[in-house]
Amino acid sequence: MRPFGTTIFAEMSALAVRTGAVNLGQGFPDTDGPPEMLAAAEQALRGGRNQYPPGPGIPELRAAVGRHQQRFWGLGYDPDGEILITAGATEAIAATILALCEPGDEVVCFEPFYDSYAASIALAGAVRRPVTLTPSETGNFGFDPERLRAAFSDRTRLVLLNSPHNPTGKVFARAELELIAALCREHDVYAVTDEVYEHLVFTDSAEQHIPLATLDGMRERTLRISSAGKTFSCTGWKIGWVSGPRALISAVTRVKQFLTYVNGGPFQPAIAVALDLPDEYYQGFRAGLQDRRDQLAAGLRQAGLRVLPSDGTYFITADISDKSKKDGIGFCLELPERVGVAAIPTQVFYDNQEPARTLVRFAFCKRESVIEEAVTRLAGL
Ligand code: PMP
Ligand code: GLN
Repeated sequence: MRPFGTTIFAEMSALAVRTGAVNLGQGFPDTDGPPEMLAAAEQALRGGRNQYPPGPGIPELRAAVGRHQQRFWGLGYDPDGEILITAGATEAIAATILALCEPGDEVVCFEPFYDSYAASIALAGAVRRPVTLTPSETGNFGFDPERLRAAFSDRTRLVLLNSPHNPTGKVFARAELELIAALCREHDVYAVTDEVYEHLVFTDSAEQHIPLATLDGMRERTLRISSAGKTFSCTGWKIGWVSGPRALISAVTRVKQFLTYVNGGPFQPAIAVALDLPDEYYQGFRAGLQDRRDQLAAGLRQAGLRVLPSDGTYFITADISDKSKKDGIGFCLELPERVGVAAIPTQVFYDNQEPARTLVRFAFCKRESVIEEAVTRLAGL
């Protein structure tokens, strides 16, 4: 683990605190989640639910996760054996990779990738085979199908896919997913999908969210991961889950029991309540973030930055080359002092940083007034 230093999120959040900058770096909301969920947590905290929950998660939460996937994606999973509650998506990803990979196995993933992927792959002694996402003229990120094909070998164990995608805001199109699925079937490998932004595809996106597990022959080879943090604005609660075929969930459970064993006793019943909220909650949540995206995009443009499209997630990307001679890392290290805003350099999520040297990620999961303040400050660029 020597190559893995402090995460960029911790580094930039600490810098934001030190300098009093508006923190558009680490992706966490600055409002609390739905009141029904908060009330349920309070009741659980005072109602004797503070001890270890069962290893796979409390039955009412597993049942709610099952209902939720059926309601939104038409995917049926048995809450008894096909759904495991985890300490956020992060633990689900780590436990899944540790469960499925032997040392030397290869993991095909798309770069830029969320930082815990590389670390989890390394912990398993596996090897990452990144396929690079690069922005086109229009700023939409895509990959070369031949490079994807070439990334597969007889050592490939699984494909790790995040859509909607952090940090780019890309939503993988059906044709892209079909190719990934075809390669998984051809090479008989597993897919692990990170769908924590499943409810954050904006209404003007050309693509809709399509869980890979819904494609032909994929349910049986896919472990589908999501979590409550993003959808219900409670990133600190760390309640996540993984769903998939019984034998695979059993293998992941084997590992998970020795990582955290269990977590979030009183928060589990609260997330069960949140998942069952009516469709209007989910629509309102998405509409609110879409407004904030548009507000921040306009502000970044006014500040003289070229803004790339964001179809989903909490994040939008800007190209800083018109405003700085430095690369994204240099720019982000000086931005808090220069104008009082913190952001994240996209290049740190790549092995091959070249396509992203001048790209910077800004989070818009913040109150309107906070984004307004950030935009005012960025005008000083
Ligand atoms: N995957 C992606 C793509 C993320 O952006 C995040 C961070 N929020 C996670 C996983 C981790 O989720 P959690 O906080 O539920 O562990
Ligand atoms: N997912 C959040 C982001 O991408 C950060 C989570 C973390 O700090 N590990 O900004």
